[in-house]
Amino acid sequence: MPVLALDVGGTKIAAALADDDGTLLRSARVPTGADPWSDCAALLEHVRDGAAVDAVGAGCGGPMAWPAGVVWPLNMPQWRGFDLRAALRDLVPGVPVAVHNDAVCFALGEHRAGAGRGARDLLGMVISTGVGGGLVLDGRVRDGRTGSAGHVGHVVVEPGGPECGCGARGCLEAVARGPAVVARARARGCPATDGRSLAALAAAGDEVARDELARAGRAVGTALAGVAALLDLDLVVVGGGLSQAGPPLWGPLREAVRSCARLPFTRDLRVVPAALGQDAGLVGAAALVLPPSGSPAA
Ligand SMILES: [Zn+2]
Repeated sequence: MPVLALDVGGTKIAAALADDDGTLLRSARVPTGADPWSDCAALLEHVRDGAAVDAVGAGCGGPMAWPAGVVWPLNMPQWRGFDLRAALRDLVPGVPVAVHNDAVCFALGEHRAGAGRGARDLLGMVISTGVGGGLVLDGRVRDGRTGSAGHVGHVVVEPGGPECGCGARGCLEAVARGPAVVARARARGCPATDGRSLAALAAAGDEVARDELARAGRAVGTALAGVAALLDLDLVVVGGGLSQAGPPLWGPLREAVRSCARLPFTRDLRVVPAALGQDAGLVGAAALVLPPSGSPAA
């Protein structure tokens, strides 16, 4: 039987009906409004279209109480301690409901059907308003003690560096999150207004834009070399808005990986762009409640 998938973010909400191998059968999305839950419920009913479903999987921005599914998304002031799992249980009674961090769903989605398809192990990482990540080891998502395994955004890459939302200094997120990169470039006179325009300016040769994207790329590559050594990883899939900045970001990123990942088991680390676009979160949310890809259906 199919399952329902939900992907809730600060700018959009998406829902899908997925078959039992994770293929999206029907999906829909709307901008996030003042009452996100009524949008979620309406979207889910729309894609479900009366079909019987086996389970519901949902990804949402953190932080959250996991696995309870009570969420406080940083970029959704409308939800402060919203019990998403209970709301989904009321909407679709009698079936398993799982809620996880949206970056974990991204990693699961890219592993099941995207750039990490067939890989045994990977880190999936999103560089966007924040920097998040999720970890798949031995073909399965690793939750960690509190559901936070893979939180690569708070690996410190510049000790004493920019202040992070978590209270520390020099976290990867503080250095490489899109709004921070744009703000630093603007403070140096670059006219960029967002990550997209920063990337366009860098491609056109703007030195400040190139310099700030290079700093972000080096920070990402440095963190990933450390993660690869710690976890014996050979693959990282990178998505999110700023990951589309092209060579001005990816060149320094790969250079940092080359110079930092030098052990026999890390030097072949592959860092690749995500392949699923905005569907990754939905595919991953469905994967939360499906058997791991490649294993027989339960
Ligand atoms: Zn931090």
